[in-house]
Amino acid sequence: MTEPIPAGTTERAASVPLARAPLESVLTVDVEDWFHILDVPSAPPLAEWAEMPSHVEKNFLRMLDLFSDHRATATCFFIGWVAERFPHLVREAAGRGHEIASHSYAHRLVYQMTRDEFYQDALRARKVLEDIAAVPVVGYRSAGFSVTDKTQWFFEALAEAGYEYDSSVFPAPREHGGMHAAQRGPHRVAAGSKSILEFPITVADLLGRPLCFFGGGYLRLFPHWLIRRMSHRVLGEGRPVVFYIHPREIDPAHPRLPMGLRRRFKSYVNLRSTENKLRRILTEFPVTSFRGFRSRHPELAEAC
Ligand SMILES: [Zn+2]
Repeated sequence: MTEPIPAGTTERAASVPLARAPLESVLTVDVEDWFHILDVPSAPPLAEWAEMPSHVEKNFLRMLDLFSDHRATATCFFIGWVAERFPHLVREAAGRGHEIASHSYAHRLVYQMTRDEFYQDALRARKVLEDIAAVPVVGYRSAGFSVTDKTQWFFEALAEAGYEYDSSVFPAPREHGGMHAAQRGPHRVAAGSKSILEFPITVADLLGRPLCFFGGGYLRLFPHWLIRRMSHRVLGEGRPVVFYIHPREIDPAHPRLPMGLRRRFKSYVNLRSTENKLRRILTEFPVTSFRGFRSRHPELAEAC
């Protein structure tokens, strides 16, 4: 297998070569509520979350039904706080065969935490989820893909907190960090005496600029034909597409947080058409969870 990349490196190195081209892409959900939007002054602090009117329960259950309609299996990255408040959502997802993974406990940006704060938060989230789901939780995704070149302790702390893989690296410039020089395919990153398997967020070049067409604002903004074309291009390059979606994105009627024009556009554009777009993607592209993808690609396993 390919040697792990030292955590601090900014060099682009080869991804772990997959033994065969991926036929499946990876479907992921960040299970959070409509008010878990980052870097907006009007977003409530953790102490006020319990008083907010919650929509995650009905939206996530509807999303699970949508996945069932398409026989799609996903990795569900739960905010630990959401899991504690709505444990039946974790059990329902696990019962339907989806993978339970961690989206931190308190949804704080990695680069705004110390190494120890990050470690404690990641550990707490894993324990909360494992207690509820009664299965090992080994996957992690940070709030806002906020791993950067400046948080070089991230992978080692994540391994110490008991995780095996991560899907937090955005391999292009972006508001919440991004690692410009990170490679695009699955790869291993050194993490002390261990290594973490990294599945970066999928980007593809459009007019020379790396963009993510496969989740968040761009998935809602871009037309379906372009997302389909870019997905085929990524698969043609031997990488799985990592799709990501939030429960609030299939609920156009969810409450809005006050914010500036630019953020409002990015947070709320095309909410009405997102469910249909997601259904078309699930009709056209076979998807699985990270657990499923890893089981079909043993070459991604850590060498003993
Ligand atoms: Zn999030």
